[in-house]
Amino acid sequence: MDLIRRVLDGASLSKTEWLSLICDEEAYPDIALHELASSIRDKVYGRRVFLRALVEFTSYCRNDCYYCGLRRSNGLAERYRLTPDEILSACSDGYAAGFRTFVLQGGEDAYWRDDRLVPLVRMIKQSCPEAAITLSVGERSRESYRALREAGADRYLLRHETADSVHYSLLHPADMSFGNRIGCLRTLKELGYQTGAGMMIGSPHSSAETLASDMVFLQSLKPEMVGIGPFIPHRDTPFGSERMGSVELTLRIISLVRIALPSALIPSTTALATASSDGQIAGLDAGANVIMPNITPVRERKKYLLYDGKKITGEEDGYNLAGIMERLSLAGYEGTLERGDFISVAASQHSW
Ligand code: SAM
Repeated sequence: MDLIRRVLDGASLSKTEWLSLICDEEAYPDIALHELASSIRDKVYGRRVFLRALVEFTSYCRNDCYYCGLRRSNGLAERYRLTPDEILSACSDGYAAGFRTFVLQGGEDAYWRDDRLVPLVRMIKQSCPEAAITLSVGERSRESYRALREAGADRYLLRHETADSVHYSLLHPADMSFGNRIGCLRTLKELGYQTGAGMMIGSPHSSAETLASDMVFLQSLKPEMVGIGPFIPHRDTPFGSERMGSVELTLRIISLVRIALPSALIPSTTALATASSDGQIAGLDAGANVIMPNITPVRERKKYLLYDGKKITGEEDGYNLAGIMERLSLAGYEGTLERGDFISVAASQHSW
């Protein structure tokens, strides 16, 4: 476990070293990684799992990512866009229910220009003053990110998708640029957002090497949040007949990310819960500490389809809080609605 020791002591590993941590299951068995990652999470955040209320507010997207069901060329997708009033009322209801983080996620929808999104962020902040706002609306200009931040947005999720530029070009059409995506992430950090990067596991053309690049990238960017979920095909995309990413590998990578970034906020994602019936708890047991119950109006929730089989069983329903809390408690966790901001902990302050 010498490589792990070095990571815990704060060393940045090379790509080759990450490759052996990812691949050498004999020297670094899953179970040992999960236990270590869980114990690190417990030392930083305890057994608390932060609940973020997710509003999927638009399914329109100008991008054409090969993996995503919202891609503009998917003529079979049913599109919807919540009105500002609908978004505000979802947040107000969620606030009354106790949520103190709202995640506004959507495709890159041209309708949501700054002159619409900035006032919306301001209005949510006014009606939900103690809540954090997380945006996840893709690539925008520095000016736009700045205006949204000044309006009160606290956090921003923008998965880098892959840190390998060749792999990036196999997942996206030529009008999307790896350099721009990474540049956006750096800008978000500079502007003081708690910033989320992340990647799908098992996306087409991915490999242990691309994952090792992801680990090197994450160690250098040091994002406050990291979203990791398996790739799941969507039938009406160019990757519709590709294989789903492995749940086991997803859990292993969650553990490695927790070990590399002890105080990161790591969601146990909907994709993980979709790929495996006990995926959400397994994600927590591997070191995650966030879940994102859905408070999007139910009639639209079914239309926000990134991949086939999205879990809409009620378990992920933000209005079934008692059920969610009970499930967490049965698994040994304590669900909490508090803001749950990133805690900055220097590795050296802890003996892991
Ligand atoms: N448009 C914003 C963006 O680009 O960041 C946010 C919405 S986007 C749909 C959110 C994330 O969904 C992406 O970053 C991607 O990793 C994930 N996603 C898209 N299609 C997926 C699929 N087929 N399987 C698993 N995750 C997928």
